[in-house]
Amino acid sequence: SHSRSPFLFLSLPIATAKPTKMSNNNNALTKKTVMPGGKAYEPYMFEDGLDVFTLFNKQHGYTYDDLIMLPGHIYFSADQVNLKSRLTKNISLNVPLVSSPMDTVTEHLMAINMALLGGLGIIHYNNTIEEQVAEVKKVKRFKNGFITDPMVLSPKHRLSDVDNIKAKYGFSGVPITEEGRIGSKLVGIVTSRDTDFIKDRSTLLADIMTTDLVTAPANATLEEANNIMKKCKKGKLPMINDKGELVALASRDDLVKNRDFPLATKDHENKKLLVGAALGTRETDKERLAALDAVGVDVVVIDSSQGDSTYQQEMIRWIKINYPRVEVIGGNVVTCRQSEALIAAGADSLRVGMGVGSICTTQEVMACGRPQATAVFKTGLYASQFGVPIIADGGIRSIGHIIKALSLGASAVMMGSLLAGTEEAPGDYFYKDGMRLKKYRGMGSLEAMVKGGDQRYFSETEKIKVAQGVSGSVVDKGTVKKYVPYLIQGIKHGLQDLGCISVDNLRSDVYNGVVRYEVRSTAAQVEGSVHSLFSYEKHFI
Ligand code: NAD
Ligand code: IMP
Repeated sequence: SHSRSPFLFLSLPIATAKPTKMSNNNNALTKKTVMPGGKAYEPYMFEDGLDVFTLFNKQHGYTYDDLIMLPGHIYFSADQVNLKSRLTKNISLNVPLVSSPMDTVTEHLMAINMALLGGLGIIHYNNTIEEQVAEVKKVKRFKNGFITDPMVLSPKHRLSDVDNIKAKYGFSGVPITEEGRIGSKLVGIVTSRDTDFIKDRSTLLADIMTTDLVTAPANATLEEANNIMKKCKKGKLPMINDKGELVALASRDDLVKNRDFPLATKDHENKKLLVGAALGTRETDKERLAALDAVGVDVVVIDSSQGDSTYQQEMIRWIKINYPRVEVIGGNVVTCRQSEALIAAGADSLRVGMGVGSICTTQEVMACGRPQATAVFKTGLYASQFGVPIIADGGIRSIGHIIKALSLGASAVMMGSLLAGTEEAPGDYFYKDGMRLKKYRGMGSLEAMVKGGDQRYFSETEKIKVAQGVSGSVVDKGTVKKYVPYLIQGIKHGLQDLGCISVDNLRSDVYNGVVRYEVRSTAAQVEGSVHSLFSYEKHFI
């Protein structure tokens, strides 16, 4: 109901108990005293900035850049900051970062790495059901340190096929299964020792493969696999299930490089990484969901720019009845009224943002949307009454924006452009004007619509395309394995400056008026960015 108090959940516990906040003993801030000249200092004169309710009680819609947050008191180190937060009613993340379901951002490689680092990836759905399911499967199958998607050949392949794999991917050990694919019975392995001195490259692999195999059971740990490899002095170790079928490959080189991911987003029962997938609101999306559920998808995002539709409400209800295990993120929304509709339908989380993405033309074309800081605050406050988290989606250009989104009520932040230039995003790098770039495009861009097979984006009767996005490029950012930890560290420093030791603590301090904001004039925004230099270099963001 609308009349529930926004203060209902303000007694959130501070996540880490040890460090305690010091009280402020500076009496001048609270006591009435006399100024030189006789006039009294009133306590309100020392009040810095605005609390969040006063701030948003205005007619303006604010975006992240309009606002600045005032520093708090530091009583802990940045490393002590706890970023744990909720993605949905029933899924928590150690790192509140999510990669967007876009075809130039999230496929299995991004989703695996986001989950390893404590966040989550949502596989896009500009593909066939089979393709999307294959991507989800790769994430679910992933076992840190093991190759769960190795190149596999059959005994009927020839030596030249091994040469091709070596030339293209650089691998020299190829497991051989009856059907030449993972999941089929392991019959041999071909390594450079089997192939180096054979002149005739059309030789069948059946004739040269090693069949006297050392293998490990599918459930072996990294340490066990390592020990077996040390003992038998092999570089590659096939892992098989009790039917003798190949399930993974361990490689000595990878084991040496392997590191731990203590923050990883996994289910505690079977230790698999969590993954999300996007889908729409058509009849065929019900088949899609059935197939995604069968491979263990954990959460789905109903992908729409305007979530408050009968289509989406019906879809959410249908999913919650038929697949109660699967968490549903509804959206996108930017108003309390839209949020109400989706929460009533059973959404476990809301995706917030309309017309604010870097590749987005929605506000120009559709005249609909909302500045993102206001959208996040309003929807976050409304949804919090029902225990429904929200995800701030789009328009994130810096670590500062992530911190502002979290402070205004987002439990997680979804990013497209920030991640599109990383190695783990789909697509190859190319050079332009001396810059190493990757393609990044809106899912409502003409290009993406054509790839997706028109049916999703415009009504069947009307074949006139109205794009809501553009396609372009972003600069190389290296690997997310380095970039996301950089973002995490930046967020921790930001929370430290605010005097908030956790995301929960940030939330309660904002709603309690302890964290203060100011609106920045245009001049203040210029002052707050790099200025007055002839030239400068900026690394990352
Ligand atoms: P959509 O699938 O929600 O809508 C496409 C069209 O199909 C709409 O006209 C919709 O009303 C119609 N439709 C949907 N379900 C239907 C059903 N069951 N029966 C009949 N008609 C139905 O997609 P969209 O809003 O155009 O967004 C496309 C993509 O672009 C998404 O990936 C979205 O995230 C992205 N996008 C995002 C934003 C944003 O601001 N966040 C803006 C534009 C586009
Ligand atoms: P970014 O992080 O600013 O690049 O924004 C990414 C977000 O933009 C996505 O998560 C979507 O919500 C939204 N988006 C994706 N494709 C389009 C589009 O074609 N038009 C408008 N918005 C889009």
